[in-house]
Amino acid sequence: MDNSHVVRLIRQLRKESARKERKNLIGAWREKDRLNGELVDSFVIIFRTSGCKWAKISGCSMCGYYNDTSPEIDGATLLTQLKEALGKYHGEKVVKIYTSGSFFDENEIPKSVQDEILSSFSGAERVIVESRPEFIKDPLAEALHQRGNVMVALGMESASDETLIYRINKGFLVRHYVRAAETLNRHHVPVKTYVLFKPPFMTEAEAIEEAVHSIEFAAKYSDVISLNPMNIQRSTLVEYLWKRGEYRPPWLWSIVEVLKRTHHLCEVVSYPTAGGTRRGAHNCGKCDEKVVEAIYNFSLHQDISYLEQLDCECKERWEKIVKYGPQFWDYTVES
Ligand code: SF4
Ligand SMILES: [Zn+2]
Repeated sequence: MDNSHVVRLIRQLRKESARKERKNLIGAWREKDRLNGELVDSFVIIFRTSGCKWAKISGCSMCGYYNDTSPEIDGATLLTQLKEALGKYHGEKVVKIYTSGSFFDENEIPKSVQDEILSSFSGAERVIVESRPEFIKDPLAEALHQRGNVMVALGMESASDETLIYRINKGFLVRHYVRAAETLNRHHVPVKTYVLFKPPFMTEAEAIEEAVHSIEFAAKYSDVISLNPMNIQRSTLVEYLWKRGEYRPPWLWSIVEVLKRTHHLCEVVSYPTAGGTRRGAHNCGKCDEKVVEAIYNFSLHQDISYLEQLDCECKERWEKIVKYGPQFWDYTVES
């Protein structure tokens, strides 16, 4: 069995034309986050880059970040973006740097620019950057340790190779995540692990069980685990399936269930992108706002009581879907 049909579709759906000839920062804003058990201000920066190495040759089934990249971007452009970001930075304790790819991929961000960016935020207590595992090597991990404030986020997504290959087309296996996480652990560089909640081609019940297993697996390598519920991004395989009625984003009740079963393992957080909308994790429409807020509050305060008193008439339907399968999902009610 191979995954070439999935790869073919991912490539077909990608619209090269969607890539804009823009060179500016995608975004920069302030939000709340946790640091050493406390609630603090954090500063989020999304750099526009030339794109993820993996997305250029194949790509993940859910990832639409490619749409925001631009082939024109070089080191000088990135430094201009850095200047733009620094103009908006007000000394927040946590800085989160996203690139629509891997911060440590030197084809995406030249090494000198990586250093310049990290040095610009040397006063922050924590700087979080994301990377695919293949860029994490011992000398890099040691250099990050010397900086003292860098946390690396690794998108493991799932502890199942079957899911990584056939449902996500991630381009690496669980053992590659483990090697990178162990390298960072060896050099005492904090690790944040992303677990993708509800990849395509699985039921709600399977998604819950796999996410719980993935969090249990990643907890021993991670300081923080972020449970990232699927959201439907443009020009992706997941969007294609969703438009054909063959995929539904996870229920918010399922996120609550996973958090309740895993919160004791390490710091587990979830901030559902597009939560409560049709393209994000959602329930019936009536209770969504309340449940999304509870998930955010749980994540920020690490207090499980936020998730304990939630209820709505749709919970019974969700329980049946989990128990008996997706035939209980009524498309007409959903749309
Ligand atoms: S999810 Fe990450 S690794 Fe996959 S294509 Fe998108 S940016 Fe690249
Ligand atoms: Zn409801």
